[in-house]
Amino acid sequence: MALLVQKFGGTSVADPDRIREVADWVRRRRKAGDEIVLVVSAMGKETDELLRLADAVSGTRPGREMDMLITAGERKAAALVCMALHDVGVEADSFTGSQAGFITDTNHMNAKILEIRPERVKESLAAGRTPVIGGSQGVSTERDVTFLGRGGSDTTAVAIAHAVGADACELYTDVSGVFTTDPRVVDNARKMNHISFEELLEMTATGCPKPAMRSVEFARTYGVKLHIRSAFTWEQGTWVSEEDPAMENAIISAVTHDTSEAKITVADLPDEPGIAAKLFRDLADHDVNVDMIVQNVSENGATDISFTSPHEGFDAAVSVTEACAVTMGSGTVTSDNDIARVSVIGAGMKSNPGVAATMFETLAKAGINIDMISTSAIRVSCVVREAEAERAVQELHQAFELHKPV
Ligand code: ADP
Ligand code: ASP
Ligand code: MG
Repeated sequence: MALLVQKFGGTSVADPDRIREVADWVRRRRKAGDEIVLVVSAMGKETDELLRLADAVSGTRPGREMDMLITAGERKAAALVCMALHDVGVEADSFTGSQAGFITDTNHMNAKILEIRPERVKESLAAGRTPVIGGSQGVSTERDVTFLGRGGSDTTAVAIAHAVGADACELYTDVSGVFTTDPRVVDNARKMNHISFEELLEMTATGCPKPAMRSVEFARTYGVKLHIRSAFTWEQGTWVSEEDPAMENAIISAVTHDTSEAKITVADLPDEPGIAAKLFRDLADHDVNVDMIVQNVSENGATDISFTSPHEGFDAAVSVTEACAVTMGSGTVTSDNDIARVSVIGAGMKSNPGVAATMFETLAKAGINIDMISTSAIRVSCVVREAEAERAVQELHQAFELHKPV
């Protein structure tokens, strides 16, 4: 018998049949003796629809009202899941984020959890019932409803798992686990039975959409065991835990790609102290997210700086950079929207040289030009043309033989 948190994503509860299937799965697990806390996302694409609706109605979209609107999607799903549970004989209680004790800061649309007071959830469990929590929401220190941001239900699940001391947190989705690469891009991508937090964090930081990166960070910090698995086949998925130091690591575990960023280059900057500091301070002060940064070797006292930044908010990033160039009295700003970042990730890279060489050779053989390069201890990333990203992923997956079981 175990105490489990089970989180169901939008596709897992997309329609009445799916909701009944989820309820039946919970019934079977309860019958087998497990205690369960459920966390649900909004049904299907409802969050996107609510965002569109807000856009259609309002030009100002006040944060407080946006959060009230969006979190309604998860509350609706929680109530429906509870009804389906009652129908199959499982006593269940739905809870909003606030009722479940999620206290957050006041940062609407992207609130951070400050504290969890899970008394009502614990009482429900103690009474032999199944609590069902609306994901991605809480109540702020100003007593307003808050939304934890896109993908926030994963964070709700991990946080409640920690707060109630669950044995594991199961994140159910439309694929059977974490794959060696996006299974939509490579046919023979392989489901991994196990992955380390370190590797999964690098994957989620470089384009793997699930689970939400924040939830993986939270799980690692608090030692919550994660199991990413399918709500369609119910088979065993991918377990995430600390790396086992006794284990031989695969040199490369996964290939990711990310098309969510664009590139800005500032050419002809004076090569002197304070220039990069000024540019990136201005960007930070305007809340511009910056990812890869590359500075060229200077020629005749002038240098170029390129960096990537999300498409969302990219126009602001360009204007801040242009304004900065004007105040510095130098630098020509250009931008490039059609880029993608392709990354290879693997903990075994630490002790095996040659990964970067193999990656660059593979891309060269495929005639794919590399625009920027960056590395971490367990990752090598290349910026390439967006149109070539999927082919790059396919070539790299093949070159590192990721389809073969380790
Ligand atoms: P949802 O619609 O459930 O909110 P997304 O569609 O954003 O979530 O993310 C789930 C999808 O992520 C999967 O259907 C899968 O195609 C894709 N994906 C990309 N890379 C990977 C990977 N390495 N492992 C598993 N799934 C991946
Ligand atoms: N439904 C929200 C989203 O799609 C939050 C979540 O369920 O994670 O981003
Ligand atoms: Mg999906």
